[in-house]
Amino acid sequence: MQAHDGMYIDGAWRAATGPDVIEVVNPVDEQVIGRVPAGTVEDIDAAVRAARAALPAWAATAPAERAARLTALRDALVARKDEIAGTVTAELGSPPSFSQSVHVGLPILVTGSYAELAATHAFQEEAGNSVIHHEPVGVVGAITPWNYPLHQIVAKVAPALAAGCTVVLKPAEDTPLTAQSFAEAVHDAGVPAGVFNLVTGLGPVAGQALAEHEGVDMVSFTGSTAVGKRIGATAGAAVKKVALELGGKSANVILPSADLAKAVNVGVANVMSNSGQTCSAWTRMLVHRDRYEEAVGLAAAAAGKYGDRIGPVVNAKQQARVRGYIEKGVAEGARLVTGGPESPHERGYFVRPTVFADVTPEMTIAQEEIFGPVLSILRYEDEEDALRIANGTVYGLAGAVWAGDDAEAVAFARKLETGQVDINGGRFNPLAPFGGYKQSGVGRELGAHGLAEYLQTKSLQFQER
Ligand code: NAD
Repeated sequence: MQAHDGMYIDGAWRAATGPDVIEVVNPVDEQVIGRVPAGTVEDIDAAVRAARAALPAWAATAPAERAARLTALRDALVARKDEIAGTVTAELGSPPSFSQSVHVGLPILVTGSYAELAATHAFQEEAGNSVIHHEPVGVVGAITPWNYPLHQIVAKVAPALAAGCTVVLKPAEDTPLTAQSFAEAVHDAGVPAGVFNLVTGLGPVAGQALAEHEGVDMVSFTGSTAVGKRIGATAGAAVKKVALELGGKSANVILPSADLAKAVNVGVANVMSNSGQTCSAWTRMLVHRDRYEEAVGLAAAAAGKYGDRIGPVVNAKQQARVRGYIEKGVAEGARLVTGGPESPHERGYFVRPTVFADVTPEMTIAQEEIFGPVLSILRYEDEEDALRIANGTVYGLAGAVWAGDDAEAVAFARKLETGQVDINGGRFNPLAPFGGYKQSGVGRELGAHGLAEYLQTKSLQFQER
């Protein structure tokens, strides 16, 4: 695979300042497919300086001009759709059709939504004798994970650019080639030099330097809760704005009146999608005791069909971590219904689609984020019990409720401590705010709420208005 051996800074590919490289590995066959430079503190500094220099002019552009650049960016992503989907498949191992429809399809949709929002958002409003201006926060340091490599980048960069901010991106180590393709699309779109900058590198080096840099006004991070806590503490100490999208352990609550087969089948598909590497995945299925065994049977049959249809997990470390959780589930007394810790292939970081029954709320597999194709099915006695179990983790990112009618599902959903709930299956909406309650994060991405994260407020008072 073709990879740039430099950083995209100030509108051009510049030589990296250090000699170190990161090898990119295809998780299907464990072959090295490319090498990118491992950014240094100096690379981050150069990128932040470029972003600061570009800020005044970009912040002053008319929203219609920013909208035009975002439309051009969407078009550039469309033009590179096949290339980027191929890159995501090579770096992440996801099936080609999924790379096309989800890994590239969603970011195109989201970029388009921010082109529209940039043009229509009320950057100015009035209240009594005041005029209130919503102004860009400034230079944004964006740090992203590998699980949806393009979507995670776009969910930060598109609203930041719409708001009039400039950006330095430090993408995940495992998927830097997708980030390089994104930088090329930004270039094709005619976004002015310095408005978007890319530094590839290691989290504890380049990521940390970006989070700590004095020239960064806001840090927007998606990744693990452990790193998010550190970034939040660093930003707090510097009184810097921060947005955190962290882990999840979402509940799929199937109420007794629901269409059980549909709820279980969609629920299993949700967990197995992207090999379980989705922070909002419904990893805990909650079923009433009267229909429990029926649900377990349906889930086992549904998971069995995924055998060869899901890709590997991203790397050897993640594979070992997921297998470790499966072993722990067995050791703590959960019933392994299908799947297991053994690898299905000799090569590649594959994990078997796995379903556990008789999972109790205090078990490790019911509390911790596994980030692999593993479903836990829990039994509840009544609605109060279901609610207690659903809300009984440190997380609160997403979830689902199924019932005979939407009104019943909504009544239950309103009691869930979580940022997003799909009602009777739901459907992806690029305008719906996404983000967590509790330790799943701070702030929201997507739609107008995602745009507002990158704005700060100034009010001007007049004597008469
Ligand atoms: P991670 O936290 O290790 O890495 C995420 C990003 O942070 C990477 O770019 C990494 O290089 C960087 N990073 C690592 N250490 C850093 C440091 N000390 N300072 C600054 N940056 C640093 O997470 P991961 O392993 O890449 O991703 C998996 C985890 O992310 C899962 O636990 C999952 O729940 C979470 N996740 C959450 C969301 C969400 O939207 N809430 C989305 C995807 C992933």
